[in-house]
Amino acid sequence: MDIRFPSDSKLNRDTWLRLLGVSEAHLKRAETDDKMHAALERLQEQMEEAEGLLFEAARPAFAYAVLAAEDLPVQGVSLAKHLEGCDRLVLSAVTLGHDVDELISVTQSEKIALSVVIDCGASVMAELAANLAEEQICDELAADATGASSDATPLYMTERFSPGYGDSPLEMQAQVLDVLDAEQQLGITLSKGFMMSPSKSITGIMGLADHPVTGRLATCAECVLRDKCPLIKEGKRCGVSQG
Ligand code: SF4
Repeated sequence: MDIRFPSDSKLNRDTWLRLLGVSEAHLKRAETDDKMHAALERLQEQMEEAEGLLFEAARPAFAYAVLAAEDLPVQGVSLAKHLEGCDRLVLSAVTLGHDVDELISVTQSEKIALSVVIDCGASVMAELAANLAEEQICDELAADATGASSDATPLYMTERFSPGYGDSPLEMQAQVLDVLDAEQQLGITLSKGFMMSPSKSITGIMGLADHPVTGRLATCAECVLRDKCPLIKEGKRCGVSQG
């Protein structure tokens, strides 16, 4: 299924800057340091250019499936805890398509700095697409439940949990993509190292229940990303509003 970005869509600048390695300390310094200020202005111009190129190139699409919880062997304590109380799972895959990889690769040979900005912007865009897909999935599941019976029990869904987050192994991507037949449906393939192509693709696992469930974020202590996570270096954590 295709994903349509709203016409006023913008890529989140805070996340984008963080992926580019620009910390709050850098932003603060740019307020008083002329050189730093000029560099940040140049970067923001590149982000504007990159954003336009990305919205032109992206062909966002997604697929999902609902299955009984026991049909997917869950790996990792953090994912098991996230899905506690859920009797069904929603598996999803979202991709921006091959043209975004092509854009990154073509720009790499001509304008290396811009290509880094595009690459990080594409990661932000993939999250945006995954969030839009999740909204669409919620709407469809709610409509199916209501259509099936006039006194249907409401459905509750946890947030998306991606393989490779917390202590869930990246290998779980293979299970998700297999269930979704993602190669056929979305053109997503997996390398031996479990990296997806197109590279700007996201798999997700959500829990589903007929009673309220909240899911649970991984703790930093159990997260495989903790040694390179830019958030914990700034004393923050994922899933918490940084505003
Ligand atoms: S803040 Fe970073 S290390 Fe902590 S759980 Fe989130 S991604 Fe993992």
